[in-house]
Amino acid sequence: MKVQKFIKECQEKVFSGNGLSFEEAHELFNIPDENLKDLAQCANEITRDFNGQKVDVEQLNNIKKNACSEDCTFCGQSAFFDTGIETYQLPSPEEVVLKAEKAKQEGAESYCLVAAWREPSPKDFEKVCKIISQINNKVGISVECSLGFLIKEQAEKLKKLNVKRYNHNLETAKSKFSEICTTHTYEDRLNTLKIARDAGLELCTGGIIGLGETREQRFELTMELARIYPEEVTINILVPVPGTPLELQTQLPNSEIVRIFAVIRFLLPESVIKISGGRELNLEDSGEELLQSGANGIITSGYLTMGGNEAKKDREMIEKIGLKA
Ligand code: SAM
Ligand code: SF4
Repeated sequence: MKVQKFIKECQEKVFSGNGLSFEEAHELFNIPDENLKDLAQCANEITRDFNGQKVDVEQLNNIKKNACSEDCTFCGQSAFFDTGIETYQLPSPEEVVLKAEKAKQEGAESYCLVAAWREPSPKDFEKVCKIISQINNKVGISVECSLGFLIKEQAEKLKKLNVKRYNHNLETAKSKFSEICTTHTYEDRLNTLKIARDAGLELCTGGIIGLGETREQRFELTMELARIYPEEVTINILVPVPGTPLELQTQLPNSEIVRIFAVIRFLLPESVIKISGGRELNLEDSGEELLQSGANGIITSGYLTMGGNEAKKDREMIEKIGLKA
């Protein structure tokens, strides 16, 4: 009863526009498993109140695959690990336009161009700009990008090209980061987020859970996201890729996954909170429960190096639980 009352009080604070204190957020993040249902339900009510019934559905295009210079231990596209994943360089604008057109027809609201590199070279950046211009001219779908580190001029150019949102993930807690990557730092990632925001781009950021971090570190990441207050949070659940150092990592219990989504909703009531990579693999219900526990976005039709549910199947799942695709 006492815990239920505490969760309700936190919810009332959110509804009245008062943020939670650090201590309250910490207590919420550590409520006993037996109260998780109450936490999830209150997070769902916050989602519906601030965001309605709509689920943000996005499709990705991995425009540059594999052979990345960075050593992120979870990533099947790092050149440091032998993962057997095919490699390809940037496709022609025409090829991407066709895929973006298909995504639009399948009901996706946004189309995100993702590249497996540390940062775009000047030449590749120009190619990506051409791709974006053609999508704008021929398709008319909201374009987002995830192109690694940016410099100011590049961020400004993306803004001029009407790119709505820039994705760049923190990946994990600051205290865990050096264990999962040594070729760049947490500050490097924060810096690109600042450059993107200063250029007027909306932000999408988040990370991966299930890397072997502690609950306290998931809380640390949550608080960093709350500080940044991005328009969109993206949470991946680790897909252990054979050949990477995390290939044998054990799966996170479902309760820990629900816990982080629900608390992020309390802290970021207005943001899109997206269930990203690992949704189909780690969640038996493909995300039904999370979409009723704080999340209000999904990526459909596959990810960067692996397939996923078809758009139609995801749309049916969303409608089945009374939400709008
Ligand atoms: N290279 C750029 C970067 O690191 O910012 C952009 C692309 S990166 C491939 C896109 C995101 O996919 C990563 O930031 C990470 O959060 C997610 N990701 C990569 N490998 C993953 C895995 N095995 N399981 C879950 N998510 C993963
Ligand atoms: Fe490269 Fe991005 Fe993968 Fe890290 S997460 S290895 S930067 S593609």
